[in-house]
Amino acid sequence: MTTTNHPKTERTLVVIKPDGIQRSLIGEIIKRYERTGLKLVGVKMFVPSADLVEEHYTLDPEWRRITGEKAIKGYLDKGLTPPTTDPFEVTEKVLKNLIKYLTSGPVIAMVWQGAHVVKIVRKITGGTEPLTSDVGTIRGDFVLDSYQMSDNDTRAVRNLVHASGSPKEAEDEIKHWFSKNELTDYNLVQDKILYDVNLDGLLE
Ligand code: GDP
Ligand code: MG
Repeated sequence: MTTTNHPKTERTLVVIKPDGIQRSLIGEIIKRYERTGLKLVGVKMFVPSADLVEEHYTLDPEWRRITGEKAIKGYLDKGLTPPTTDPFEVTEKVLKNLIKYLTSGPVIAMVWQGAHVVKIVRKITGGTEPLTSDVGTIRGDFVLDSYQMSDNDTRAVRNLVHASGSPKEAEDEIKHWFSKNELTDYNLVQDKILYDVNLDGLLE
């Protein structure tokens, strides 16, 4: 296996959303990713534009259909009537609320690197709807929101962070949020104990 495609070079995008900043959870959120051994290779704080947010969610041309169908299924599973049966109409509402949410204040965009980073970060982040996110995850531990409450109030569900869902999504999203010169390749001292094959440099 060559160095360039070793699993330790996998990267993912994490965005701490405005509620994460406003609730003073920046350190807590970063700590949870950092302590696994993952490496922070890019970070910046700014207020994203509506265009950046809309393009972020629609990088995958299938996102509108998939999200709409998922949301409609969510209503039906709970015994509720969806606002419309057209998945694209449902997504239009979700997207409008997401743009308002993400542009309401500063966010922190980060790129994390390490073996299986996409899956590890999603595991630590927890499921999309905080009501059902597992205890021990960021969304499960720090949020009390639900689709039912957020839909009732015509707003996005406040789930603290975005994390890429697959390596392909991560690749597209990192390109969308960061330029190449904002990302730094460097060695962490702990990389040795995480990835070294022979462990032959520990004893004097
Ligand atoms: P994530 O990858 O876990 O953030 O979830 P998705 O990529 O599926 O969805 C992106 C965002 O769309 C979520 O963070 C939610 O804000 C919103 N969203 C997704 N599914 C639903 C849904 O069923 N209902 C509502 N109201 N919002 C949703
Ligand atoms: Mg997603």
